[in-house]
Amino acid sequence: MKRIVVEKKILEKNDDIANQIRKTLDSNHIFGLNVMSSPGAGKTTLIERMVEIFKSKYKIAAIDGDLDTQRDAQRIAALGIETVQINTSGACHLDSSMVYKALNDITLDLDLLIIENVGNLVCPASFYLGTHKNVVLISTPEGDDKVKKYPTMFNVADVVLINKTDIAQFVKFDVEKVENEIKELNPHALIYKISALKNDGLEPFLSWVESNIVSVKNQ
Ligand code: MG
Ligand code: ZN
Repeated sequence: MKRIVVEKKILEKNDDIANQIRKTLDSNHIFGLNVMSSPGAGKTTLIERMVEIFKSKYKIAAIDGDLDTQRDAQRIAALGIETVQINTSGACHLDSSMVYKALNDITLDLDLLIIENVGNLVCPASFYLGTHKNVVLISTPEGDDKVKKYPTMFNVADVVLINKTDIAQFVKFDVEKVENEIKELNPHALIYKISALKNDGLEPFLSWVESNIVSVKNQ
């Protein structure tokens, strides 16, 4: 019982700070997007594609969560956008206080803030970061049993991207089964099949992102 109370308090405190982040994003008309998945599912590659497409049109910054390295942040910064690395020193998720601090290092003259969460299908789902939307990637080499094993993550998703679909047949990943399980669990989530590496099938997702950028800009 005691443990549950402590966890509840941590999450309440997290939500308070996240609500402040959300106010900052809203008052500056910045669309905030939280990108989550297990390690190696393609978050950084997806973010690279988004930045390549949008950077000539919109002002973008990224916050990159990682246990210890700067590898992902360096890849994103190489595309010429402002990128802040958060090293969690072993913590397996980002929380709102980390993002709040990182935001202090970012110029808020922005249209889009992308947050790459720590690669983990469990606790990132429970820590609201003040972003407007959540995108969750599931990649085919992970296996097609993940949706029901990690329901919280797929429940908080606004969009689920099934990534690496180009190799689905080689890793025996049943795309249709996964789609059906997502729909059953979270009927509101949009589902798109992509290959971020091959730049395949990304158009519907990118137009979803753009419509969100525009609506937050105009709100
Ligand atoms: Mg990454
Ligand atoms: Zn964690």
